[in-house]
Amino acid sequence: MPQLPTMFVSHGAPTLAIEDGPAHRFLIESGRRLGKPAAILVLSAHFEAPAATVLTNPAPDTIYDFGGFDEALYRVTYPAPGDPALARRVRKLLEAGGIPVREDADRGLDHGVWVPLSLMYPHADVPVVQLSIDARQGPAHHLRLGELLQPLRNEGVLILGSGGVTHNLAYALRADIGDPVPDWVTSFREWVADAIENDRRDDLVDYRLRAPDAARNHPTEEHFLPLLGAMGAALPGEARSRVHVSETYGVLAMDAYMFGATYLSPPNIAS
Ligand code: ZN
Repeated sequence: MPQLPTMFVSHGAPTLAIEDGPAHRFLIESGRRLGKPAAILVLSAHFEAPAATVLTNPAPDTIYDFGGFDEALYRVTYPAPGDPALARRVRKLLEAGGIPVREDADRGLDHGVWVPLSLMYPHADVPVVQLSIDARQGPAHHLRLGELLQPLRNEGVLILGSGGVTHNLAYALRADIGDPVPDWVTSFREWVADAIENDRRDDLVDYRLRAPDAARNHPTEEHFLPLLGAMGAALPGEARSRVHVSETYGVLAMDAYMFGATYLSPPNIAS
């Protein structure tokens, strides 16, 4: 089985699922280019738990964990099956690395999962497992989670981080979708791009102190941490590429990264 890449996507506002735009089209196209994995393991910004918690639900519901959006968004369902065997495998890998794991058999898939996956794999025919993040444990912990999960890439599992390269939600809520990108967003996202391109993992782990305007771009950390997980699942020195660049509401950079093997053919995605 060929080794799969890992990926980080920015999911922006939930309306990304139903409104056309560069990031919407990118996600559709990237699912086509990646092809169907055996299963998908997602680290989403919207599943925070105080310990590493893995979803063992064989038939997770679609969770509408947001408010105030178009009625049509609440009609989107993503009935992908769970994968309890993969969940157990995740637990084993993490526990072998000294990370205690809890199981959750009831929770459904949050919008950090189904917004991108409803575009990448619209038939909901690939099993999905979620692993929680924990902002209190910081970036190094999430890099470590990724490192421990690395073997899954040889087992047909696509490891997907879903968050935001930048995520000042308070600012976004006051902005219009097409607003210009402030300088403090550009400087941060380009710092991140450069750190990834040059595999400066220590800088990314310490991004809050080293990146320009880090706290302004991430008043809370949960949307940045899935990036560390996706990156950690690729070995230093493996190929990596910034496979998408666009933005919404001025301050939500929609950038996506792929680590490890990349698309079979170069991306040709309108932005
Ligand atoms: Zn989000």
